[in-house]
Parts: sequence; C-alpha cells; structure tokens
Amino acid sequence: MKLLSRSLLYELIFFEKCPICNNESSCQVSPFCLTCWATIRPFENQKITKGKFHKNFWNYIDALYSYSSYEGTIKEAIHIFKYKKIMRLGKQLGKLLSKIEKPLIDIIIPVPLHANKLKEREFNQSAILARELSEAWGIPLILDCLIKIKNTKEQALLSEVDRKENLKDAFIVRTKLNNLKVGLIDDVVTTGSTLTECAKVLKIKGEAKNIYAITLARAN
Ligand SMILES: [Zn+2]
Repeated sequence: MKLLSRSLLYELIFFEKCPICNNESSCQVSPFCLTCWATIRPFENQKITKGKFHKNFWNYIDALYSYSSYEGTIKEAIHIFKYKKIMRLGKQLGKLLSKIEKPLIDIIIPVPLHANKLKEREFNQSAILARELSEAWGIPLILDCLIKIKNTKEQALLSEVDRKENLKDAFIVRTKLNNLKVGLIDDVVTTGSTLTECAKVLKIKGEAKNIYAITLARAN
C-alpha cells in the first residue's frame, strides 16, 4: 500500500502528461499544459438572451452567461474534473467562471445532484464551481435551497419525450427566495432542460425574481 501510494505520488509529480498534447503538464493548470490551457477562448458574447434551447428555457431564465464554447480543452477539462475526479481542476475552472461579466444577483445556487448520485460521484461539480464563484464575486452561496429529490436518468440517453418525463418533479425548493435575483450555476449547458426545470421551480415555488443561468461552457 505504502509502495503504491509512493509510486502514485511520484507519477503525479514527475510524469504527469497533458491529456491533450502529451507534453509535460504545468502545476498551475495540471494535468494540462499552459499552451493547451491558453487555447480556452472566452466567448465574445458571454451573455445571451435568446438561442435554441429547451422550449421553456427563456420563459424562466432571464439571461444565460457562459464563459466558453463546449469544445477542445475546456470540454476535456470538465470531463476530467467530473469523471476522473481531479478536484484541483475545480479551482482553475472556477477562476475562468469568475471572469464572466457579473450579473446583478443576490445569491448563488448550484444545480444540485440527487443524494445517490452525489454518493457515487463524491462531489457536485456545480457546487464546487459555485463556491469558487461565490468567493470571487463576494455573493452568498446557498446550498440547501434547491434539492433534487428524483434520481433521474442521464438526459443525453433519452428521447425528447422521455427527457421531459425524466426531469418532471425532480427538484424542490426548501425556502422561499422572496424576490431575490439568483445566479444558477452549472458546468455545461446543452439543451438547457435541467436549467429550465431548476429555474421553473425557483421562480414558481421559490418566488425568485430573476434567474440568471451561469455556466462554464455552452454547447450551442
Ligand atoms: Zn498540452
């Protein structure tokens, strides 16, 4: 056991290669190298108020802020962060997120995971990004308001009809938000169905005034 962890440590320090180009990784943005990390380009239009998402997206979301397009290094980084559980990437990704033009918000709420999913993944990537953002922007982070009560299937694997049914009644709010403006955080937006469902509950049940969805990457 001791030997194994020593060799792992050795590998981490001396042999870590950038997953994109296989050159030596940089400790600042590990496991990536600085050259690949620098290819993450911010959107010129980080804030959008129209676009093709879930049909109710713009009924509940007042604006969408995303740092970059979901491709290349950032796509790889989010994947590694989430599924290979490289926690230190959360800080770097959170830093990128905090460079987004700050909307006028009172609180920050991450898209929650179901308790079973949280157990399986060990952490909620959106909550980690939300914590970084909360610290950088000096805006309170609320973790116990929006709760996921249904352990839904992976949206990407379902048809459009099943997706709708899958997310139905998946989220609840525990406290009223009394007209507050909410920054709703997720790592990626693709069809936007999860963000739509969260925003709907926050507005209708939670009585939030505005919902600004904030994501690291945007797929379309
Ligand atoms: Zn590289």
